[in-house]
Amino acid sequence: MDSEISRNIKAIFERIDRSARKAQFEPNKIKLVAVSKTKSPSMIKEAYDAGLRDFGENYAQELRDKSNELSDLDINWHFIGHLQKNKAKYIAKSANFWQSLDSFDVASEVNKRLANPIDVLIEVNLGGEASKTGVSESELPQLIENLQTLDKLNVKGLMVVPPYDDDPEKSRPYFKKLNKLAQEFQLKELSMGMTHDFEVAIEEGATIVRVGTRVFGERTK
Ligand SMILES: *Cc1c(COP(=O)(O)O)cnc(C)c1O
Repeated sequence: MDSEISRNIKAIFERIDRSARKAQFEPNKIKLVAVSKTKSPSMIKEAYDAGLRDFGENYAQELRDKSNELSDLDINWHFIGHLQKNKAKYIAKSANFWQSLDSFDVASEVNKRLANPIDVLIEVNLGGEASKTGVSESELPQLIENLQTLDKLNVKGLMVVPPYDDDPEKSRPYFKKLNKLAQEFQLKELSMGMTHDFEVAIEEGATIVRVGTRVFGERTK
C-alpha cells in the first residue's frame, strides 16, 4: 500500500510532467523541493522513501534540528525562509542550498562560517510588498556584484514568492519577470511556484518548484 504522501508525490510529478510538456520543457530538469516546515521528521522520511531528496525549511533552528535528526539520510536541505544574522551559523552548518538570500550583510556572515561552498539563489521581491522579504529589482545588480567577493556562495539563480492570490494566473506576470531578470544576469536556476501556482511557474520556465501543502497536507501551525 502506498502512503498518502507517496500518492501525493506521484500526483505532483504527473502535473509537473504535463505542464512541462505543454510548455516544451524537459520534465526531468525540474526539481521538486518538498517544503516540510512544521512537518515531522517521520513525514519527511515517508517522502524520502517515496524518492524525494530535496526538502525546504523556513526556520533556521527547525532546519538544524531536523537535519540533525535525519543525518543518516542523504537529503539536500534547502533554506527558503527569512534569515536573521544571528542564525547564520545554523544555515552554514545545515543547509545545502540557500534559496532566500536577500542581504549582503547576512550572506557575509554565512560565508564566513561555511566549511564548503554552497549554491544560493537571490530572492527578489517583485510585488513591492513592504511585508515581504527579498531584494528589489533595483538592488539586484549591486547585490550580484557584491556576492562575487564571497568565495563560498555560488549564485545560481533567482527565487520569487509573488503576492498571494487564489487565481494562479495572477502569479504569471511575476514568473515571466523573474525569468527575464535571470536571463539578463545569465543565471540558470529559477525557483518559483508553490502548491497553488506551480503549474503556471513551470510553463514560465521554473527549474525548481517549492511545494508543501500538496505533498504533506495542510499546515495546522
Ligand atoms: C511555505 C512555503 C512554500 C510552500 O507553500 P505551499 O503553499 O504549502 O506549497 C514555498 N515557498 C516558500 C518560500 C514558503 O514559505
